[in-house]
Amino acid sequence: MQIVNLSAKELSKSYNGFDFVFSNLTFEIKSGKIFGILGPNGSGKSTLLRILSRLTSPTDGRVICTLDGKEIAAEEQIKIQGFVAPYLTLFEEFKPLEHIEIVFKIRSEKYTKSEVLKLLELFELTKSLHKPIKEYSSGMKQRFKFILALISSPKLLFLDEPFTNLDELGIEKVISIIEQLKQEGKIIVIATNDKREASLCNKTINLKQSAADKPNLDASV
Ligand code: ADP
Ligand code: MG
Repeated sequence: MQIVNLSAKELSKSYNGFDFVFSNLTFEIKSGKIFGILGPNGSGKSTLLRILSRLTSPTDGRVICTLDGKEIAAEEQIKIQGFVAPYLTLFEEFKPLEHIEIVFKIRSEKYTKSEVLKLLELFELTKSLHKPIKEYSSGMKQRFKFILALISSPKLLFLDEPFTNLDELGIEKVISIIEQLKQEGKIIVIATNDKREASLCNKTINLKQSAADKPNLDASV
C-alpha cells in the first residue's frame, strides 16, 4: 500500500488582489484520513478544495503531495485523484459509457471495463445505460459523477457537498465507499456545510466568512 500525504503550507487566496478569501492556512492530511473543510457560505471551502486538488492556483503558499514520502508534481497528483462537485459539468449529450470513453481519451489514460461495469451496478445505473445523461435525474447525474471519480481507484478523493441530490440509499452508498477508501489508506477531503457530511471527518478546518462576503454595516441604504 502506497502512503499518500497532502499538506498545505501558508496558503492564501485572493481573486481580485486585495480581498483575501483566506490567508496563511497550514495543515497536513495523512493517509487514511477524512479531512473536512467547514465554514459558512462564501468562506472559501470550494476555493480551498480546488487549490488542494490543483484545479486553482493559490495566490501564496503551496500544496505538497507525497507518495511514500516522495513529493509528486501537480500533474501527477491530478492523475491519482478523483473529484466530485455540483459545479463539475458533464457532457450530457452522451450516454455514460461514451462519456467515460471520452474522459479517458482526453486524459490519455486507460481504464478497465469490468471496473466500470461494477461501479455502474453499485450506483444502480446499469439499467439506464441506453439514455443520454441529459435525460438523467439530478440524483443519477450525481451518482455518475461518483463513478467517474472512482474508476481509476483514486488515492485522493475531493468531494464538494457530496450528498447533493442523493437520496438516503445513495448517501449510504457514498458513506460506505468513503469508509472503505479510508481503510485502504486513501485521503478524502470534503468541503461542506452539512452536519452529516461533516460528521464523517477525522479532522476539520473551519473557515470564516471572507471579507468580500461580509455585509457592509456602514453602508447607508
Ligand atoms: P464556499 O464554497 O465556502 O461557499 P467559495 O470558495 O465558493 O466559498 O467562495 C469564496 C469567495 O471567493 C466568495 O467571496 C466568492 O464570491 C469568491 N469566488 C469564488 N470563486 C471565484 C472566482 N472564480 N472568481 C472570483 N471570485 C470567486
Ligand atoms: Mg462551495
